[in-house]
Amino acid sequence: MIIPHKGPLNEEQLAEVSSIAAEFNCTIRPIQGAEMSVYAIIGDETSQLLVTRIEGLPYVNRVDRIQVPYKVLAKENVHGQPRMILGGKELGKDFVVIAGHCAIDPKNPNLFYETAQAVKEAGADALRGGVWKPRTSPYSYQGDAKALEILVEARARTGLQIVTEVMEYDEVKLCIDAKVDVLQVGARNALNYRLLTQIGQLTAGTGMHVLLKRSIHMGPVDEFILAAEYIAGSGNSNVMLCPRGTLPTMNGYRNHPDESITQLLKERTWAPVVVDPSHSVGKAKYVPRAALAAAAYGADGVIIETHCHPVQGTGDDPKQSILPMVLTKLIPELRLIAESAHKFAV
Ligand code: PEP
Ligand code: MN
Repeated sequence: MIIPHKGPLNEEQLAEVSSIAAEFNCTIRPIQGAEMSVYAIIGDETSQLLVTRIEGLPYVNRVDRIQVPYKVLAKENVHGQPRMILGGKELGKDFVVIAGHCAIDPKNPNLFYETAQAVKEAGADALRGGVWKPRTSPYSYQGDAKALEILVEARARTGLQIVTEVMEYDEVKLCIDAKVDVLQVGARNALNYRLLTQIGQLTAGTGMHVLLKRSIHMGPVDEFILAAEYIAGSGNSNVMLCPRGTLPTMNGYRNHPDESITQLLKERTWAPVVVDPSHSVGKAKYVPRAALAAAAYGADGVIIETHCHPVQGTGDDPKQSILPMVLTKLIPELRLIAESAHKFAV
């Protein structure tokens, strides 16, 4: 249940609503939408008495029942939708492209600066660069906090907003201090509900965006949206959903491409969908068409591993990184397809 309200409730009103909710073991979560304030009643809010009591308050004009289990991110909660801007573009309205390295090699900053400049010239809207890496083997390169300085320097040099993955509390804190623009939660941590909650709490009110990858183990669409709801419900509604392939079933792609889930997600939530074709198909030559498919399914953007010298540098995914010149050719086509897809919105 949500209470959409023209402006914020005053202190007394909020205390009154909260105390009624508490009688029913519920809490109130204020959400600042682009145009309205929304108060979500979190908990088992099915009691008719609770609805009647809240509806009876003189300053409450309406109460909306949300039928789906995610309250903040539900499509019906239109008033709770924040305006999310990346690289000067509004997510949901303009197609955005995030590009850059899988990992930043702290021993070779110039490699990253070169790619950062090249993706900017190719027309990318934001820059990705892995500082800490979740690696399958404990003996592979695990990342290095020093790379965060390189990422921040690349932002200063190019003006591109920056995206990096966090795996634990301390990394989140360091990224907040560095004013990273988008925190990425990877496929491995997409089911780490404690971390998702911490991220929502720690980044509440910072304006930071969170890009949540889909776990390879996730099944029904709602499971993914509910994972994102952990972040949104604990304080930060600026969440993007990122399908990146699930458990591999095809002999040829790294994972099972899941960009088609985009139109199902967009039917149920207002959260923007930014697809990762790189980890999905896992080979550079397959990435452009997978990205175009994502745009055709109505994605709001893509995140693509791009590298000037894919075989150089530590900890990168050389097989799946495309060259900046491919990105240059791809970006205008993505925008065209995204525009066509809008004509067939579900
Ligand atoms: C990545 O983006 O480099 C990454 C490790 O992604 P995922 O969590 O989707 O595997
Ligand atoms: Mn990668």
